[in-house]
Amino acid sequence: MARNKFLRTCIICREPKEKDDLYRFTIVNGEVTLDYYKKLEGRGFYICKNKECLEKLNRKVIVKNIKRENFNIDKEKILKTLKNMIKAHIYNTIKICNKSGAIEATFNRLNNCDREICMIILANDCSENTIKKAKKFLKDTFLIQDLFSKNELGKIISKDEVALIGITDKKFCEKLKQLYTEYLGV
Ligand SMILES: [Zn+2]
Repeated sequence: MARNKFLRTCIICREPKEKDDLYRFTIVNGEVTLDYYKKLEGRGFYICKNKECLEKLNRKVIVKNIKRENFNIDKEKILKTLKNMIKAHIYNTIKICNKSGAIEATFNRLNNCDREICMIILANDCSENTIKKAKKFLKDTFLIQDLFSKNELGKIISKDEVALIGITDKKFCEKLKQLYTEYLGV
């Protein structure tokens, strides 16, 4: 498999990595800005998708990297934006998953499903009883529990509310796991 990939270097740990493993930032109107979809113009810089490197993001290291000093950086705002972007990315991925028919919602559907459920997304405002039932059902199934409300999950499947969604496609499951790990690392 001869895939010719151009590596980028994290400005914190200096490790070269593929673009997908790094967040891109650039300066927009004099402010350090997250370029989540790597589409913004201008000179950018890259940081690993992990807590260790994100935590060390600071003005000095950026100055050294982009060779200019006339910019502002609001680290708290950047990290908040990043967390929100990943959350939205997860939500959109579940929507696409639904469009491709790889979702089962409600316990009844899950219990009578002949496909393997590889991930469960539980609403963050569901009852104790639902959590208990889900944990019994789960065994080794990957669980996301802290991201979306019943209302938000309901919208995905065109319902008012739903307490949980099961994912039946392994590829979607892997993608969601990866995004969720990134989310926890911010
Ligand atoms: Zn790094």
